[in-house]
Amino acid sequence: MDDFPEGVVRDYPLSRLTTIRTGGPAELFARAGSLAQLEWLLRWANRRGIEVGVVGSGSNLLVADAGVRGLIVKLDRDLSTIEFDGARIRCGAGARLPAVATKAAQAGLTGIEFGVNIPGTVGGAIRMNANAYGGELARVLEWADVVGPEGRRRLTPAELGFSYRRSNLRPGEIVARASFTLEPSASEPVRRTLADMRSRRRAAQPSGIKTFGSTFKNPLDCRAGDRTAGQLLDAAGCRGLQVGGACFSHKHANFIENRGDATTADVVALMEEGRRRVKERFGIELEPEVQALGPVELPRARVDA
Ligand SMILES: Cc1cc2nc3c(=O)[nH]c(=O)nc-3n(C[C@H](O)[C@H](O)[C@H](O)COP(=O)(O)OP(=O)(O)OC[C@H]3O[C@@H](n4cnc5c(N)ncnc54)[C@H](O)[C@@H]3O)c2cc1C
Repeated sequence: MDDFPEGVVRDYPLSRLTTIRTGGPAELFARAGSLAQLEWLLRWANRRGIEVGVVGSGSNLLVADAGVRGLIVKLDRDLSTIEFDGARIRCGAGARLPAVATKAAQAGLTGIEFGVNIPGTVGGAIRMNANAYGGELARVLEWADVVGPEGRRRLTPAELGFSYRRSNLRPGEIVARASFTLEPSASEPVRRTLADMRSRRRAAQPSGIKTFGSTFKNPLDCRAGDRTAGQLLDAAGCRGLQVGGACFSHKHANFIENRGDATTADVVALMEEGRRRVKERFGIELEPEVQALGPVELPRARVDA
């Protein structure tokens, strides 16, 4: 693989592109600043049989300590813009969701307030079907342009097959652009909602730490009742539990914190221990919410429900 084109670099440290700050390098890495450049990169990789992955804000990502084979792409410039068209917002998928929520509020548009506390990109939010405070991505998304090995497709929310914290996007498929349809509103109440959401977040979650947010999904198992994954981990004695440099947060038991020198292996071992304790105490199998990039064995049930 010596004939790679300009802009593609070798051995790029991915830990600096994730919020937990662990993991090794990408074998190949490139920033795509336009749709044409993204399509070109994917065609180039496809012709050579190189696997392609994508990183957004890395706020839900665990990168293998050994690094990631293939090409990792990050979207920027034209693919991270935020533009208004009446009550529609057209975004590059590299645009940050809190910025989209704030700009919508300033423009007097309502519907995407829930994005203010989700520290990811539009593309990552679509891939993960991110939501918060009852707000729903699928309700405001008009379409997403997805580029993959077979070219570009414009998909509707129905075609993206959203369910709890997932879409049906396949590995190698990259959301390049998206359009949201919002409702006009007076700007002041929308801004007040954002301020309220921010202060509720500050009260409930730790800030200023290296974390990927919720480690496990909230269980759908009826034995959990209405207890969240964080409440189950807390009751199973996981709050503050530490493996190597990784620790379940004292403030929110479903958040794992990198205390400074954690590896991805520490994080995975801690997840395994948390999952084991919840299973032993309540019989409930927690499923990871965090996504893996490269060879990471996330602890999960053998048969995915
Ligand atoms: C403090 C904190 C609070 C959080 N709160 C919430 C919350 O309230 N609600 C919530 O839902 N989530 C929350 N999260 C999790 C996270 O922010 C979301 O899952 C977010 O949508 C991930 O976006 P990202 O750009 O960071 O994706 P990444 O972490 O970079 O990637 C996640 C997955 O999406 C894929 N991906 C990224 N970009 C694209 C793209 N353009 N096209 C296709 N696939 C892509 C990646 O390959 C990977 O599989 C929180 C995280 C943190 C750290």
